[in-house]
Amino acid sequence: MQISANNPNRKSWLPVSEGCDFPIQNIPFGVFLTKDDIITIGTRIGDYVIDLGAFHQLGYFKGIPLTDDMFMQDSLNDFISDGRKTWRLVRNRIADVFDAKNPDLRDNPKNREIIIFDIKDVEMLLPINVGDFTDFSSSKEHATNISLMFRGKENSLTPNWLHFPIGYHGRASSIVVSETLIRRPYGQSLPFGEENPIFGPSKSVDMELETAFVTTDANNFGEPVPVDEARDYIFGMVLLNDWSARDIQQWEYVPLGPFMGKSFATTMSPWIVTLDALEPFKCEGAKKELKPLPYLQQKLKESSYDIKLEAYLQTENGDENLLTKTNFKYMYWSMSQQLAHHTVNGCNIRSGDLMGSGTISGPTKESLASMLELTLGGKEPITLKDGSTRSFFNDGDIVTLKGYCTKDTVRIGFGNCTGKILPPLKYKFPK
Ligand code: MN
Repeated sequence: MQISANNPNRKSWLPVSEGCDFPIQNIPFGVFLTKDDIITIGTRIGDYVIDLGAFHQLGYFKGIPLTDDMFMQDSLNDFISDGRKTWRLVRNRIADVFDAKNPDLRDNPKNREIIIFDIKDVEMLLPINVGDFTDFSSSKEHATNISLMFRGKENSLTPNWLHFPIGYHGRASSIVVSETLIRRPYGQSLPFGEENPIFGPSKSVDMELETAFVTTDANNFGEPVPVDEARDYIFGMVLLNDWSARDIQQWEYVPLGPFMGKSFATTMSPWIVTLDALEPFKCEGAKKELKPLPYLQQKLKESSYDIKLEAYLQTENGDENLLTKTNFKYMYWSMSQQLAHHTVNGCNIRSGDLMGSGTISGPTKESLASMLELTLGGKEPITLKDGSTRSFFNDGDIVTLKGYCTKDTVRIGFGNCTGKILPPLKYKFPK
């Protein structure tokens, strides 16, 4: 089936300003709360959100097999379960109804009133009920930088790294939608050169600039997903800030890996941009330094996507400081390889599972995607516009990730993935 929704020449009768992440070619999916306290699934064009529950009720999805309440839900999980064919039919239909040349809804002010809201009048919610969260480590540059800092020169990359996409099972309950406030976490850490750990608020709250993909039900328990089929089971992508308390992380991560230093919060952007919408931005992935084992050998050459990624730090005076500019294409392992590896042991993947890319650091100093790397573990703090310095984030700092693709005149973006750091909770722990 053709993805007619991607037609680059299509224009919408809804206004879309230049440089907007959400032209009619995007049609992402999200969940929002209206002023009338109704939760619904929707999409976005320009600065307008479209209530797909109402759109469906008023008959605009006629002919597409969808249950009546498909979009009147508080998560996209059921819609995602319906699979690629339905996603494509739905996106194509939305593109058709909002096409500048189509009068059906354009010239029906009564229905427009029911279906379309200003983005300012809704509150974005978490788009999926995240069943399981897995975070990978797929930027070779990031893995090398972290290993150098945490484990010393002689251990610059673990011996398994070039053989499979390393990952760990994360925490789904603390995944929050963009703009959720983030409390500085408490935990244990071992100050440099000391023998005994201390307890208190983390002194090194950091970001990890990542993307993540959302899966549909991919396989039966016990059966792997072949690498060349894996893309069929990926619904779309979001931006992900995998907040990390480096002092807690460093003290706890041997021998079982990340735990409390990561599980306090992970922020995701509210709009899931479909893999279909990203199709025109496919590009070759990183060159493999070692031939992987056959189950990870992917036929498709254009296994990556050209997605520009940025992170900004806003200080309390309102200054925006660019922290880094990187690109999704720097990933060593593709999403298909990650999913094939994840399931090769028979682990079943469900609709609404979230798979983090891992920190996407690039090859240059300007493309490092965590403060840990940007400041060499805090040794070389960065200076901000207001003259203050940061090794890690202060209370009150607002961290925003952005991501977008451009080709010819079309720009497809993800919107913002934002979090503000609050001071630690006032709580009396035992002395
Ligand atoms: Mn991470």
